[in-house]
Amino acid sequence: MAQPAQPRTAVTRLTGKLSQCTGCGEVFGGLRAFDEHRVWRGDRRVCLDPAELGYAILNSPNGTRWGEPVDPAFTAMLRSKESHQAT
Ligand SMILES: [Zn+2]
Repeated sequence: MAQPAQPRTAVTRLTGKLSQCTGCGEVFGGLRAFDEHRVWRGDRRVCLDPAELGYAILNSPNGTRWGEPVDPAFTAMLRSKESHQAT
């Protein structure tokens, strides 16, 4: 089984809404991103790559964290992908 990659985000201190995953070590700016990257596979939870979910590495006062991408065009593109079946 492949070793999980090193986390790409890190903070010196968890403050406010920041949460760090005990599975992959990544830091998230909110519960939504955190919950989305932890999915059930059978009877265990696994971590997905936040980048593949459309999240971006953002600067935080204490370091870096995953969060919503700031580029509105990128966000709109992701939203349209989600509703692709509507066409
Ligand atoms: Zn994780």
